[in-house]
Amino acid sequence: MKFERSHRWLLAFLLLTPNSQLPSAVALTDDTPQWGLLDQFQRTMTQAEFQSRLDRVFSPGGAFQKFLVYDGDSVSIFDDEQRQQRLYRLQFAADTPRVVKRTFKTLEDLPALKNPPDQPLRGLRLALDPGHIGGEFARMEERLFKLNGGPAEQEAVQNLIVARLLAPQLQRAGATVLFTKNDFKPVTDASPEQFRELATKYVRENVAPRPDVRAMSELAREALLLDTLRKRMELEFYRNAEIRARAALVNDRLRPDLTLCIHFNAIGDTDRPAPDNRLLLIIHGGYSPGSVETPQWKFEMLWKLLENSHPTELAAAAAISRAMAADLKLPPERSKQDPNYATVSDNPYIYARNLIANRLYHGPVIYLEPYYQNNPTTYARLLAGDYDGEREFGGQRLRSIFREYADGVARGVIEFYRQHTMATPAGR
Ligand SMILES: [Zn+2]
Repeated sequence: MKFERSHRWLLAFLLLTPNSQLPSAVALTDDTPQWGLLDQFQRTMTQAEFQSRLDRVFSPGGAFQKFLVYDGDSVSIFDDEQRQQRLYRLQFAADTPRVVKRTFKTLEDLPALKNPPDQPLRGLRLALDPGHIGGEFARMEERLFKLNGGPAEQEAVQNLIVARLLAPQLQRAGATVLFTKNDFKPVTDASPEQFRELATKYVRENVAPRPDVRAMSELAREALLLDTLRKRMELEFYRNAEIRARAALVNDRLRPDLTLCIHFNAIGDTDRPAPDNRLLLIIHGGYSPGSVETPQWKFEMLWKLLENSHPTELAAAAAISRAMAADLKLPPERSKQDPNYATVSDNPYIYARNLIANRLYHGPVIYLEPYYQNNPTTYARLLAGDYDGEREFGGQRLRSIFREYADGVARGVIEFYRQHTMATPAGR
């Protein structure tokens, strides 16, 4: 059979060249960055702002700073730690920073909206990004969840219900609401099969040479490599290609003032019940040493730093976390010791992470990760679907989890913008 023959060829290919000198697997569209795109940010940020943003938010471990040389009113970014190959030179702002035309409104831009009290979101474009594709892809995405052999629930469904409940509330407050997706179809028109070559290279370089894999019996190794290859092709599709397609949509067409990525969290071994529920909000930052290696990654980090979405993102996340924590009655996560999570303020609900979506989407992006799907009460509430009024769960009368979530987010978003966009700001 044709299939079998191609598998055998593949296996030979995977095993015969385990220590190839090719560079490690790169992202799908990891092209040579267009450094000229950063020119619009020349002289828009002072050196003090740039350094403090790097040290506090983007590269708190110092990973990126190794590639920099400061020189008077500029900084040069190098490809190598020996600082031989310069990639770009950024000039700092003097006393009055140059004004840059952004696609989103920063904290400084908001007061000019002078909104009436009942329309605090007037003039704002808010994007809702319900996480995952779902439907026929939920199993592939590993976002089909069940606890103790109970019925399966798809996270994509839950996220979409929340987005649809949230949208009209934001619209009533004056916002233009934009969805990155509103169904179970991928935004990308790619398919997993397209990534066979890329995934083959990954498996050949990263999986086949592993001592545990090389020690396996021939049949077991063949099966494992084929399974790993399939998973990698799928990952390139549902994570890399899908998020890149959503990023193109956000950046080129939606151009929002704020993007909310809507998710439900889960913790630990998700087959095991979580004892409680917590709230986590993720903003952008916290680059690890491995995430600033290539010119493309350096470019993407600099773009996010220089577009200056951080102050708006952090302030919005703080307001939303306050409303959600109070309305959803959720404590923060236990202090995270993970190097991929950086603390950027004294707000225990907010962590900075370098995720593909919040790196590629322009403008402020907030990842909402409330509840644990593998908490038994949450699981029961998710399975119950959306409903009016209250229902009983383990002796507690509770509202629809989707309304609780959407209402909390809406209140936070509205309070954040009300503080900054009103004609006569209250309490200032
Ligand atoms: Zn999710």
